[in-house]
Amino acid sequence: MKYKRILLKLSGEALMGDKQFGIDNNRLLAYAEEIKKVWEAGVQVAIVIGGGNIFRGVQAEQGGMERTQGDYMGMLATMINSMALQSALETIGVHTRLQSAIEMKTIAEPFIKRRAVRHLEKGRVVIFGAGTGNPFFTTDTAASLRAIEVEADVILKGTRVDGIYTADPEKDPTATKYERVSFEEVFQKNLNVMDMTAFTLCNENKLPIIVFDMNKGGNLMRLVEGEKVGTLVDF
Ligand code: UDP
Repeated sequence: MKYKRILLKLSGEALMGDKQFGIDNNRLLAYAEEIKKVWEAGVQVAIVIGGGNIFRGVQAEQGGMERTQGDYMGMLATMINSMALQSALETIGVHTRLQSAIEMKTIAEPFIKRRAVRHLEKGRVVIFGAGTGNPFFTTDTAASLRAIEVEADVILKGTRVDGIYTADPEKDPTATKYERVSFEEVFQKNLNVMDMTAFTLCNENKLPIIVFDMNKGGNLMRLVEGEKVGTLVDF
């Protein structure tokens, strides 16, 4: 295996599948199956999942709600997704733990770095819920932060597109996909990988990122085995 410990970031929206809102159970189970394959192969798996399929703080603000209130609601949305994914994984026999950045002791452990690492070493998939626990951040930033804290080898950002392009492929037919791109070039060309806070954290801590299509079966496994899938951002 090329990677021993990974941090998988899934967006909330990816969980919607073809639905307009909420969670598509088939999609959820499909993701759980993909995760199970790499878990069975002995890869240590940490996961951060977004909440955009349920609630986003910025949109709430546009509707007149105070931003911080909206952001906390967004963080709770990530907990709903995290619990759903935890259930899906447990249903198919994967051992998991859920840690929350906001204390919710009846449903999740509090985030404790040392404990998270211990779970990973014992072969439990660890899901980090409630983002960073702070408003004005994103779950991409939570993913970067947790990946650095637990010393993951790489962040795997599972999306609906298969990598990073020179331009938006839906708008520009001449856009081409990068197989590999440096942090430097992403900054220079203002390419869209993650928000700047998340991206800067990875850059400063020398953490590579791979953006790939999580909806294509087998991709996750191919990645951890070292195959070139999606776009690798490194140094
Ligand atoms: N959020 C936050 N702090 C965090 C992580 C998330 O305030 O550390 C809130 C924010 O309002 C965000 C929402 O939770 O809009 C859902 O997360 P995100 O938009 O990152 O989810 P994704 O786009 O990955 O589905």
